[in-house]
Amino acid sequence: MARIVQKFGGTSVADVERIRNVARQVKAEVDRGNEVAVVVSAMAGTTNQLVDWCNQFGALHDRREYDVVVATGEQVTIGLLAMALQELGQKARSWTGWQLPVRTDNAFAKARVKAIDTAGIEEGFKRGEVAVVPGFQGLAPDNRITTLGRGGSDTSAVALAAALKADRCDIYTDVDGVYTTDPRIVAKARKLDKITYEEMLEMASLGAKVLQTRSVELAMNHRVRVQVRSSFTDVPGTLVVDEDEIVEQAIVSGIAYARDEAKVTLAQVPDKPGVAAAIFGPLADAQVNVDMIVQNVSRDGKTTDMTFTVPAVDLERAVAVLEKARASLGFSGLQADKNVAKISVIGVGMRSHAGVAQSMFRTLAEKGINIEVITTSEIKISVLIAAEYTELAVRALHTAYGLDAA
Ligand code: ADP
Ligand code: ASP
Ligand code: MG
Repeated sequence: MARIVQKFGGTSVADVERIRNVARQVKAEVDRGNEVAVVVSAMAGTTNQLVDWCNQFGALHDRREYDVVVATGEQVTIGLLAMALQELGQKARSWTGWQLPVRTDNAFAKARVKAIDTAGIEEGFKRGEVAVVPGFQGLAPDNRITTLGRGGSDTSAVALAAALKADRCDIYTDVDGVYTTDPRIVAKARKLDKITYEEMLEMASLGAKVLQTRSVELAMNHRVRVQVRSSFTDVPGTLVVDEDEIVEQAIVSGIAYARDEAKVTLAQVPDKPGVAAAIFGPLADAQVNVDMIVQNVSRDGKTTDMTFTVPAVDLERAVAVLEKARASLGFSGLQADKNVAKISVIGVGMRSHAGVAQSMFRTLAEKGINIEVITTSEIKISVLIAAEYTELAVRALHTAYGLDAA
């Protein structure tokens, strides 16, 4: 007997018929003799609607109340799935995030899971019951409701798998695995049988939303065996594994893109020690994460231009913080641009191969695409370009690195 956590995303539970389809897949796993806990998202579109209602109260609404609102979507699907399982003659019950509870920190709207009390689920397993658990929801130390950030049901599932010491965590979604790039924009994307935790982590954090970044972090730290697969077709998916489980490692294994960053340029910042700290300190205090940074060498030795990116949703807050500090920072102008995309090439093989960056720059140049900012790490290279070239860039790079499906 194995213990399995299955997670079904929004498209997979988009209506009652699809929920019945999910119930059949859950029951099939139980019929194979396994103990099963299921994590579900809200029905497709529901969370967007809930977020939109909150945003009608401005960008600065109370995040604790935002969590109360957006956590409701998952409560609907756990009840419906429990009913669908019962309809098949399968014992099941739902648990809300606060009934278990799923303990988190108090970073409302982007909380981190601290611990999950699985005692109730374990008792249910003894009675032959399937546990149906909402993704995305948690409980802050002061017992207020939290959510884990968009896409957070993946993280709920992996955290539950770790807490239950499950043998597997199967992430069922609307694509049949992790591809070399988003199959929705590159028809020639190839499905990967396996991907390393490290590469998956980079892919997720650089924009591939197939898994939430934190879910990969958790899986890596707790050695949870994660498989991404389709809830609509019964074909093998993609396993996320350790590097030594991969026999032939490609130099570049994937390409990711993100259109949710914005670029800020400060003109003529005084070029003196402490200026970077003076700029990025207040942004950090305002909880704005700065990602890519370039500082140009000054021509006159007195001033420099500073360009960096922030999440587009935080742009207004970032600009407000910087404008407030304008006098003390001493810059002459501020330019903000949401019309940018970050394109990244990822692969653990880069550690041992030179020339990957060069082919990226050459490929983009051949397409006439200008690079605005560059950042690199051991296993990835990211560039910032104008948003309208996103698809062109991703497709050209996919071909250039030999990733196209035959
Ligand atoms: P769910 O609702 O099941 O959580 P998501 O929409 O969050 O599903 O994630 C699945 C989507 O991720 C796919 O529909 C696909 O467009 C997108 N995606 C982006 N990059 C990749 C990739 N490299 N491989 C597979 N899917 C990807
Ligand atoms: N329903 C939440 C969202 O749409 C969580 C999830 O689906 O993973 O972000
Ligand atoms: Mg998702």
